[in-house]
Amino acid sequence: MRIAVISDIHGNLPALEAVIADAGTVDAWWCLGDLLGYGADPNDCVRRVRELGAVVLAGNHDLGAIGMEDLRRFNDAAARCLRWTARVLEPEHREYLLDLAERPIRLERQHYTLVHASPRDPVWEYVDTPRRARANFAHFSSQYCLLGHTHVPAAYDERGQDLMADGSAPADRRTLGNPGAVGQPRDGNWRASYLLIDEEAKHWEWRRVAYDVAEATARIRQAGLPEIEAARLSFGR
Ligand code: ZN
Repeated sequence: MRIAVISDIHGNLPALEAVIADAGTVDAWWCLGDLLGYGADPNDCVRRVRELGAVVLAGNHDLGAIGMEDLRRFNDAAARCLRWTARVLEPEHREYLLDLAERPIRLERQHYTLVHASPRDPVWEYVDTPRRARANFAHFSSQYCLLGHTHVPAAYDERGQDLMADGSAPADRRTLGNPGAVGQPRDGNWRASYLLIDEEAKHWEWRRVAYDVAEATARIRQAGLPEIEAARLSFGR
């Protein structure tokens, strides 16, 4: 079984389309949340993820856009984007996200625990250090945990050791992994990031996909969203 794991699309349709094309035929799509926020195409991103038949979790931005998280918890630019997103979000997609928000914010799939942010705080904690990764192993019992939210691809073992080498990891032990962000990478690489899991080979491969960043940037400016959300896409920060 080959699984494509995506997260943090953030309304960036050119990035999402590039990832879908790159992955080709897979057995399953898992989406760890934040389909919208920041980017100019929230409706098309929700529609495309729905068309994939993906397993989907709501992220903090998804919840913010439908009034299920207080916008004061977001920084000013992010909150401005969410107010705009809430205005343009089509009723059908809003209903879909409200539905998601009623389901568990943490899912168990075979050997995997799926969350948006972390197993001990599924909506908000940033697992961005080896120490935080290590601490979170006590909060799931499956072999693997997949999470997003930081926008930085990563894989840690129970000792907090970094398992990623040349964009891949062996997946032969308990692992906490992050696919990185499709629509707003923050590791200094502007290319869309996602994770391909090959279950038979017990191998994880992070893919980086070039996309039309000029188009995504222009769309954010046309929508009148904060300039920083346009500018950062080219830097991957
Ligand atoms: Zn995000």
